[in-house]
Amino acid sequence: MKTIALIAHDNKKDEMTEWAKRNKSVLSDYELCGTGTTAKLVAEATGLEVKRYLSGPLGGDQQIGAKIAERKIDVVIFFWDPLQAQPHDPDVKALLRIAVVYDIPIATNKATADYVVTSPLLSKE
Ligand code: PGA
Repeated sequence: MKTIALIAHDNKKDEMTEWAKRNKSVLSDYELCGTGTTAKLVAEATGLEVKRYLSGPLGGDQQIGAKIAERKIDVVIFFWDPLQAQPHDPDVKALLRIAVVYDIPIATNKATADYVVTSPLLSKE
């Protein structure tokens, strides 16, 4: 079963929980994980089980990056904030980089996330 990682910066968390609620039926077919606060909020909003890594600024992005390198995460939905500097910006950049290195789909806005979760490729090997 594929694993989808969910990450949203603070100004994007409402967008993420709304998006997750709207796509709950698709998401329920996959293993979910996410950075600390995002995972908690999505779990509360949807009732789905979401494995929690550390909060992003405390190393959660790096943990997710490591799982991508181990090939244990297949898709990332990452609503990052383009209007605010993040204290953990190097980690954000590293996560984007490692997703490209391993050629996994990484949706960084809602429109792309919609394409990813409605793609017939999502349910294929
Ligand atoms: P959070 O981390 O889900 O714990 O808030 C997200 C981030 O800021 O990278």
